[in-house]
Amino acid sequence: MFWVMILSLLALSVTAAFSGFKLLNWTLGMAGTLAGFAVFTSVSLAAVIIISILFAAIAVPLNVKSIRRRWLSDPFLAIYRKMLPSLSDTERVALEAGTVGWEGELFAGNPDWDALLDQQWPDLNETEQAFVDGPVEALCKMLDPWKNAHELADLPPEVWTFLKDNRFFGMIIPVEYGGLGFSALAHRAVLQKIASVCAITGSTVAVPNSLGPAELLIHYGTDEQKDYYLPRLAKGEEIPCFGLTGPTAGSDATSIPDTGIVCKQKYKGKIILGIRLNFDKRYITLAPVATIVGLAFKLYDPDGLIGEKEDLGISVALVPSDTPGLEIGTRHFPLNVPFHNGPVRGKDVFVPIDALVGGANLAGHGWRMLIELLAVGRAITLPSSSAGGAKLASLATGAYSRIRKQFNLPIGRFEGVEEAMSRLGGYTYAISALSRMTATAVDLGEKPAVPSAIAKYHATEMARQVINDAMDIHGGKGIIMGPKNYLGRGYQGMPIWITVEGANILTRSMMIFGQGAIRCHPYVLKEMEAAKMEDREQGLQEFDQYLFKHIGYSISNAVRSMILGLSFARFAAVPTDRKTARYYRKLTRYSAALAFASDIAMLTLGGKLKHKERISARLGDVLSQLYICSAMLKRFEIQGRPAADQPILAWAFHDAIYKIQIALGSVVDNFPSRGVRILLGTFIFPLGRHERPPGDRLGHKVSQLMMSPSATRGRLTDGVFISDELTNPVGLLEQALPRVIATEPLERRLHKAEIAGELEAGDSQAQLKQAVEQSIITAEEAKELSVVREMVAEIIAVDEFESDYLRMGASGETETIADQAA
Ligand SMILES: Cc1cc2nc3c(=O)[nH]c(=O)nc-3n(C[C@H](O)[C@H](O)[C@H](O)COP(=O)(O)OP(=O)(O)OC[C@H]3O[C@@H](n4cnc5c(N)ncnc54)[C@H](O)[C@@H]3O)c2cc1C
Repeated sequence: MFWVMILSLLALSVTAAFSGFKLLNWTLGMAGTLAGFAVFTSVSLAAVIIISILFAAIAVPLNVKSIRRRWLSDPFLAIYRKMLPSLSDTERVALEAGTVGWEGELFAGNPDWDALLDQQWPDLNETEQAFVDGPVEALCKMLDPWKNAHELADLPPEVWTFLKDNRFFGMIIPVEYGGLGFSALAHRAVLQKIASVCAITGSTVAVPNSLGPAELLIHYGTDEQKDYYLPRLAKGEEIPCFGLTGPTAGSDATSIPDTGIVCKQKYKGKIILGIRLNFDKRYITLAPVATIVGLAFKLYDPDGLIGEKEDLGISVALVPSDTPGLEIGTRHFPLNVPFHNGPVRGKDVFVPIDALVGGANLAGHGWRMLIELLAVGRAITLPSSSAGGAKLASLATGAYSRIRKQFNLPIGRFEGVEEAMSRLGGYTYAISALSRMTATAVDLGEKPAVPSAIAKYHATEMARQVINDAMDIHGGKGIIMGPKNYLGRGYQGMPIWITVEGANILTRSMMIFGQGAIRCHPYVLKEMEAAKMEDREQGLQEFDQYLFKHIGYSISNAVRSMILGLSFARFAAVPTDRKTARYYRKLTRYSAALAFASDIAMLTLGGKLKHKERISARLGDVLSQLYICSAMLKRFEIQGRPAADQPILAWAFHDAIYKIQIALGSVVDNFPSRGVRILLGTFIFPLGRHERPPGDRLGHKVSQLMMSPSATRGRLTDGVFISDELTNPVGLLEQALPRVIATEPLERRLHKAEIAGELEAGDSQAQLKQAVEQSIITAEEAKELSVVREMVAEIIAVDEFESDYLRMGASGETETIADQAA
């Protein structure tokens, strides 16, 4: 009976930890159980008393706040203060920027799935949909990506005019200032569609709608600045760029050496208060054609002209590109995707003080502005563009692999190709869901700092894999550049998207978990703030409150991680009314494991965790994959859980879960302390590592789905531009695909006849004529086969050029051979 009592107490404690009971409830439950055993069972009273004393020794100090504070929290607070990582101002700003949404649930170990599934996700409104179907469609039809990149290294004048006239540069500018005032979702839809056609146009449209003058002014500008600039930016009368990066300050943007000195100087005939700027920026998109430069620099006020502080910190000003001393116009050449990009330099450039965004009041607030806006821009620009590129690659590769035959079979039927193709499908599904989720977060009023870093990194990394696989499947067809090549330029440009808006290695290693751990953790930031309070008593009270909640939370996550691991997440609270219930269970299990591992990492490594980038990156991978899986499940729900899409969802889901296991496993295996390695391994993988990558059968199903037109393939690739012109290589692929499929039985019949010696191989037309004469196919069928074979020949054809024409790119000569001949 004694052991029954011990087991009952243990079971009660585990249940309380698993379910997150309050401390008082656990205490009452334990006391009641002990009393019950004493009164109603034969257990020895002495044993009950000894256990009760031991229990009271733990429970009383925990429940009586005055004892707890004095003997536990106070000494711990002293140690904690010493352990607390020192945060620079810029780090603090980064931590405070943005809001916490769904990622907070994932981080805390017990996500409320109903909350995610009940969330209403808005759709495009009528005006937005009409814009996507109208001007965006028309723009895509106008674009000639080959000509823009190879011949013009620019967009043709008519495209620039079309973009300005239709306010493509004013998507984020409110309607009252003449902009389109679009939602993030509409912004995403536009960028996605354009990116599926032409990277140069994509970048040209993306930049004015991302972090830059317009967005800065909308959020922080004075009324005068808004009234003057926003209507001009919306109409494209001003072309903006934003200059932060310089030769010595890339990833470490806060180290910019560029300066602004508050001073008085003669300007347009009068002595006025202003700023003298000296700067050297590079890699600035749209700079060569910009009329207004958003400039980041460090502001100093040595003479106290605008306040008492001398070193004001990073500030942002709008500098017209014709300001004397400003040097602008030359171009960099980004990886064969020649959108406008170049340096901006300035020596003793003087601007009035009201050139500061927000005026003198916001002097020194530049870093906060940039970080807050980056949270929004990164949630939209690159995830949407990656979605557009990946969808196009999936669409075209699915069709091409059905149309292109080798060894007398469509290449997509070979298992080796299937493997690459399933990745294309799975990642495209994931990227699209991820970009939809982060854009929606913005529309729901969030500033999703952590999800936008997740989306920037993972959307571009998955898109890189997609384009690599698409290139491999296309073989030489993807390599030979020219108007018939719809992949090569995207492949060449991929490292650009990996590098811009926060280079990927840095984003993964420092930002996702680095920010996420403190931003999303329910208690850490609060503990840090309490520890720093000047009023020590108040600080102790708050610290005590959060510390003990934190301890309960950590114990709960440890127990949950273990029990969910032992039971394969049977007891997780998830929506059970659907086939995907087991997916939710797995996510809940790994969410608890992440919460537990994060706490242990923060507790044992403290401030050193910042420098343990590999641990931080892997924990960030877990958070990211949990977020991506949530996005995919939500996407599946809002699309009405289409059963036919399940293989793609399943492939992408299992791939993500396997990656979670790899990331968590690598945290466990590489943790610096052996003791912690054992602890983490025991609680996270109590029965070992059982996740497997998506199986071959699933991969087969995914690639089959991509190779023929269907609602599933349509949903996977929705929102890209598909030309209805046969002269467009992707348009041709799409039109040929159903006809190739329809004529496959005829081709098989002809092939059989060929093998039987009834038909001669060789010249296509002669063979078809012979086949009709021998009644192998009808004349009608021969006619269709003839057309389809011509289409296929055009699809597998690649471009050829005269040498002179190819030299054009190097010489800068914009005249085509045809022009010269004329
Ligand atoms: C085509 C293009 C367009 C651009 N447009 C603009 C623009 O319009 N405006 C603007 O201001 N800037 C722009 N940039 C700059 C861009 O944001 C920077 O290139 C980027 O921030 C990286 O800086 P960097 O190239 O100097 O690389 P570096 O900072 O030298 O980084 C090199 C490598 O080191 C890694 N790294 C650096 N620090 C760490 C760390 N602590 N932990 C782990 N890894 C680290 C990086 O991830 C990267 O892989 C553009 C760049 C390009 C190439």
